[in-house]
Amino acid sequence: MASHQQSAVSTEEQQATDTAEPETALETARRQLERAAAHLEIDDSVLERLEHPAKVHEVTVPLERDDGSVEVFTGYRAQHDSVRGPYKGGLRYHPEVTRDECVGLSMWMTWKCAVMDLPFGGAKGGVVVNPKSLSDGEKERLTRRFTQEIRSVIGPTTDIPAPDMGTDPETMAWIMDAYSMQEGETIPGVVTGKPPVVGGSYGREEAPGRSVAIVTRETCDYYDYPLSDTTVAVQGFGSVGANAARLLEEWGATIVAVSDVNGAIYDADGIEVGAIPSHDEEPEAVTAYATETPDITRISNEALLELDVDVLVPAAVGNVLTADNAADIAADIVVEGANGPTTFAAAAILEERGVHVIPDILANAGGVTVSYFEWLQDINRRKWSLERVHEELESEMVGAWSAVRDEVESKNVTWRDAAYVVALSRVAEAHEMRGLWP
Ligand code: NAD
Repeated sequence: MASHQQSAVSTEEQQATDTAEPETALETARRQLERAAAHLEIDDSVLERLEHPAKVHEVTVPLERDDGSVEVFTGYRAQHDSVRGPYKGGLRYHPEVTRDECVGLSMWMTWKCAVMDLPFGGAKGGVVVNPKSLSDGEKERLTRRFTQEIRSVIGPTTDIPAPDMGTDPETMAWIMDAYSMQEGETIPGVVTGKPPVVGGSYGREEAPGRSVAIVTRETCDYYDYPLSDTTVAVQGFGSVGANAARLLEEWGATIVAVSDVNGAIYDADGIEVGAIPSHDEEPEAVTAYATETPDITRISNEALLELDVDVLVPAAVGNVLTADNAADIAADIVVEGANGPTTFAAAAILEERGVHVIPDILANAGGVTVSYFEWLQDINRRKWSLERVHEELESEMVGAWSAVRDEVESKNVTWRDAAYVVALSRVAEAHEMRGLWP
């Protein structure tokens, strides 16, 4: 995850660190907390509590490799705050997973759930492993043993993991199975992001892209950009970028540029995005499409970010809008599809230039929102139709977007600050109402 905006603390020392980038997920999360707190009257003790996770679990996970040798991996589960409900957050398999990263990302999940008004608190976990170095069988054995090691701290009413980098619906099915086997009953609500046949929800995979499209549509309407006259550039054509681009095209916008890791394509008259497979359908299909379509203009990913469009959707990786290119971003509206695409320094420059940046914790929150729907379906043992998922997501997203807009208007702050203010005020109020036990 990346950095966001400058802290409200305005000492010279703080300003110096504010422009230094990049920074860790934990530093970012604490900075953003301080910044949001500056707009609210919150009890200092509650604020101090929120700067730290409630618990961080560290486990070792022995794995028998296919060649019979045994290797031991480290796993974490950080649980930040559960005042509004069970912990919720992804599990990643990545060689650079650290304790601090899990803590920072768990805090970030607290705000994401709260801005969406979901009855969850934030968590994050992972195993320090390169998943590409594992066979399918090794990945399954690692997942089952990791589930056993964290079994006492997860559960449908305590902490509900979900897929993240290096994990997928199949991994979630293994976790659900391992947990259920040990508990002696089928408990689908212990994880979300499962395949629909074992309690997953329809529409979960495309939900983050759908939420990006809904938030883009609402923001364009608010700033008086009719979608039929709006040009959009989307960086990254994966689960988030491709789904967002296809929906926005369906709703009348002109998608003038899309990209994958190898480069971008541009057509001022609009690209027919339905003709290009998304990353999960066919990796790096944008550049393959460019090869088959010689007339199309090829540009770099860097040039895509600086196109003179109405809306820019960075939906690939973090830290792409930085102090180096923020002055050259020509879009009027940026909708963060990826997690943390804008560094603190870039956010400050964009704010000064009057570019409206809709933050990731709101824009791509469709994923955790449909995870919540999945959990409800699992607990109630009642599947929702895809139409119902779409309708409920629409209503949740418009509700959250409107709550953030109210703060933008009443406090005259950026969309990012407004989103954190909405989230922090809900979490802090719940702490104040519940009080401190004992
Ligand atoms: P994905 O793997 O499906 O697709 C990523 C796309 O970005 C691909 O087209 C790839 O070629 C391109 N890409 C990769 N590296 C790039 C680079 N350096 N420059 C330009 N393009 C690059 O990924 P995704 O699931 O769509 O996720 C994209 C972002 O959205 C990530 O930041 C992710 O954390 C975030 N996100 C994903 C979800 C989700 O559930 N999928 C939810 C919330 C946030």
